[in-house]
Amino acid sequence: MINEQMYEYGSKSSVIRELFAYGLERKKIVGEDKVYDFSIGNPSIPAPGEVKQAILELLEEPAEALHGYSPAAGDPNVRETLADSVNRRFGTHYRADNFYMTVGAAASLSISIKALTNPGDEFITFAPFFPEYEVWVTTAGARLLVTPADTKEFQIDFPVLEQLISPRTKGVIINSPNNPSGVVYSEKTIRRLAQLLERKAKEYGTSIYLLSDEPYREIVYDGLTVPFVPDYYQNTLVCYSYSKSLSMPGERIGYVIVPDEADDSRRVMAAVAGAGRALGYVCAPVLFQKVIARCADVSGDISAYRRNRDLLYNGLTGLGYECVRPQGAFYLFVKALEPDAKAFSEHAKKHDVLVVPGDSFGCEGYVRISYCVSERTIRDALPAFAEIMEEYRSGRKENV
Ligand code: PLP
Repeated sequence: MINEQMYEYGSKSSVIRELFAYGLERKKIVGEDKVYDFSIGNPSIPAPGEVKQAILELLEEPAEALHGYSPAAGDPNVRETLADSVNRRFGTHYRADNFYMTVGAAASLSISIKALTNPGDEFITFAPFFPEYEVWVTTAGARLLVTPADTKEFQIDFPVLEQLISPRTKGVIINSPNNPSGVVYSEKTIRRLAQLLERKAKEYGTSIYLLSDEPYREIVYDGLTVPFVPDYYQNTLVCYSYSKSLSMPGERIGYVIVPDEADDSRRVMAAVAGAGRALGYVCAPVLFQKVIARCADVSGDISAYRRNRDLLYNGLTGLGYECVRPQGAFYLFVKALEPDAKAFSEHAKKHDVLVVPGDSFGCEGYVRISYCVSERTIRDALPAFAEIMEEYRSGRKENV
């Protein structure tokens, strides 16, 4: 007998992957530029030149140092360099031993969740949310509770959240800038969240950890600043990766920060290391640990994403589509033109427009559009979006 739960996860590919695979096949038939694939969140901006430079320079270093194991938590010099960089940016006072290097945000989150979980524990997140949360929380042995989306502003519905918090609440997972809504939580939202969690933890005599999933931390527009969550809530674990900020998703590199201020901080860090060990996430790729240490203060040029955001947001809302204006990440979360977003996505496919139904993110009636694509894809797709709108408005949709 095999593990049925693992079989389920492994044999059912995600809706996003399915759409992406469909797009690749379809492109072979109708041509690359005739399929408007907005399905996947693969950065379209190349990694900054400094990344290539760092790789080339590092390749000249002695092979033993470059290809050998690092300590399980990561190279101490790398962790110290990253701590110094974070301290300069956010006025913190972290040391190397507040950092655990990981293979991307996926590992940052899954080991943090596993490190904290005991049987019967619950985590709470907010729709729309990254679908893998469900997998990581469930396989750690906890239960994921979801606060339904506040579809007006996609901030947090606090009265509902308050009802979900109980003595079983081990953690709350937030993701801002958000995939898939593109919304950035305001300082007001973070402050209110911190106050609520503090009050509830005190009321129940428990520790409630806030897991801040931040792969899009640097991808924000309009001069906005993303609040640094540990400044507002001391029980925060920062789950970071360079997949989006430095366009390095294939390199699988990120970190968890466990601040000294978090409850039981040293034991939590030891448990993070233990979870890394249990899940086999030790010694993140050493070459790329060293690359990001050299690029610790580098930021990518996100102007192309901003141009895409403006083009798509203005284009779609001009056609009558409804959507909250995203201030970060590279996604638009658009109201489907019928209540069933899966049916809408299927209909859009007939125009070779590939958009992901919001059901995958726990929010029905919406679709996610990833605009980390070429500007041309957006320009070429807008007439197709116009036709789709026209078909729904005129009732001609059924005949297409
Ligand atoms: N969290 C969110 C919200 C994401 O969008 C992603 C990737 O798309 C991840 C986590 C996983 O990131 P990584 O590729 O760094 O593991």
